[in-house]
Amino acid sequence: MARIYNFSAGPAILPEPVLKQAQQDLWEFGESGLGIAECSHRSKLFDAVAVSARTRVARLLGVSLDEYAVLFLQGGARGQFFQFPMNMLQGGRATYLDTGRWDDMAAKDAARYGDVDVAWSSQETGWNRVPNDDDYVVQNDTRYLHYTSNNTVAGGEFRHTPDAKGAWLVCDMSSNFLSHPVDGTKFDFIYAGAQKNVGPSGVTICVIRRSLLDRVASDVPDVLRYDKQVAKDGMVNTPCTFGIYVIEQVCRWLEDDMGGLSGIEARNIAQANKVYAQIDGTDFWQGKVETSARSRMNITFTTGNPELDTAFVKAADEARLSGLKGHRSVGGLRASLYNAQTDEAVDALVAFMAEFERTNG
Ligand code: PMP
Repeated sequence: MARIYNFSAGPAILPEPVLKQAQQDLWEFGESGLGIAECSHRSKLFDAVAVSARTRVARLLGVSLDEYAVLFLQGGARGQFFQFPMNMLQGGRATYLDTGRWDDMAAKDAARYGDVDVAWSSQETGWNRVPNDDDYVVQNDTRYLHYTSNNTVAGGEFRHTPDAKGAWLVCDMSSNFLSHPVDGTKFDFIYAGAQKNVGPSGVTICVIRRSLLDRVASDVPDVLRYDKQVAKDGMVNTPCTFGIYVIEQVCRWLEDDMGGLSGIEARNIAQANKVYAQIDGTDFWQGKVETSARSRMNITFTTGNPELDTAFVKAADEARLSGLKGHRSVGGLRASLYNAQTDEAVDALVAFMAEFERTNG
């Protein structure tokens, strides 16, 4: 059966060449006689994959592995909501920018380990905006500023890197990781669940400035300690080897086939623009986020009528366009156009929206 068009918010579409390669490598990786999911995480075979994955992630983010460590951990991005403050806050102060429901959860988890200021929030207006640097204050004694670069649920995205105003800069990059060029050296800690832009679920990518490693609290259990994990190349426990393999393949695809992050950004912009043009073309659709903060990854929109939105999702499913239902907490519609999304799928979506509007407008 042919594959359908997949607009899921995550786990999400993966690049076709990567899936085809993974099919082969699951059976036999190179000429090893072993499938990639069947070899030891301590084998030379897997070590080469892990080293390449770390090297490629660092290169794409423009950071050196001398200054930063790349870890592939488990527990999801949500695990990092508590793991970072558990390691680094130790009763100190942290500042959070609240641009989506994930920030709300992250700030609540951090409050277990110290004082949390929510310095700016767009919660009251449905998280439809992001702040400028002069919209928030970071107190002098703040250890870190936390923000989420792309709000998967409401559909907002930062177009700039916020100023941490002297504190460490910490970012949940889960839903726009490696989707556009980023100056990684501005960050002290980046984390991202792999399952949107770079791999299957089960791996959380963490990029930590090495100078933070001697600040880890001593009462943290080994598997959760960044310093211990870095010392053991992320293998204090058995990592998600297959997930790391896919991340390596996706980074390879980004670097070798897609022109790196500027190449993929151009494609992401062109695809998002097509869908936003359809939304803005008439009064039939409404976008949910202020134009300047619209996400290129998760496009949220509605007809304004919940029944019509439901009919759209049903008809889209029948037309082999899947995953267009908005997040259960906000309703409406959402099209996720992560890195692996194809022009063909986006064209099919836009044509389907035009036809739905013609027959229901
Ligand atoms: N942060 C963001 C921005 C997300 O989109 C998500 C998941 N959709 C999470 C955190 C939680 O991720 P996980 O399920 O990997 O813990």
